Amino acid sequence: MSIVRDILRLIFPDLCYHCGEPLVGDERNLCTLCLSKIPWTHNASHPDNDTELRLVGRIPVVAAASLLQFHKGNVTQSIVHQIKYHGNTQLAHQFGLILGEELKASHRFDDIDIVAPVPLHWWRRMRRGYNQSQILAAEVAKVLQCSLSVHNIYRRRHTPTQTHKNRQQRIDNMASAFAVHHPEQFEGKHLLLIDDVLTTGATTEACYHALQSIPNLRISVATLAIATT
Ligand SMILES: [Zn+2]
Repeated sequence: MSIVRDILRLIFPDLCYHCGEPLVGDERNLCTLCLSKIPWTHNASHPDNDTELRLVGRIPVVAAASLLQFHKGNVTQSIVHQIKYHGNTQLAHQFGLILGEELKASHRFDDIDIVAPVPLHWWRRMRRGYNQSQILAAEVAKVLQCSLSVHNIYRRRHTPTQTHKNRQQRIDNMASAFAVHHPEQFEGKHLLLIDDVLTTGATTEACYHALQSIPNLRISVATLAIATT
């Protein structure tokens, strides 16, 4: 099988999606050099880590963590682009699994009951064909052996893209963007919200606004990446 693959690769080389060099041997998606450059945060086991500090005073989280450091031009940006814009769902599954393992190893997420992705508006989801955060959340739920809630939190309206907005504009843009169909399903639970990239935290904060009146709900947050600001 690997001989066939090697021959096929000579004709149609797979390229590393970060540096563009041809992949060799067992390399998949990323070449060995780019793999070695992935900026893991390893912050899951540390209270007051940078993910928690970004949310402090806005969302009373039990714990928060991010798997990767994101900045313009780094390997994480290529990973996120593959997952969000190039339909690379296989990569989303792989990184979701790694995120789940990191959270599990930290023991700070041991009593999570429900994992829920930050929802996409149905229109964006339909155009993209999937919600990348849902794939991440499904893998995390598997590793933590808890239930996955995909539809209970929903996006009320389509919010314009956040990419070119500053922090206040993002918060205004997101105000009351989310709602919950059945709040009673989350009562007394410890919910883990999953998102792809934590930038200003405006999206997470907007999700929290939809959840904050649910009795005895505790919230934790995990993201694939945290952007350096
Ligand atoms: Zn590379």
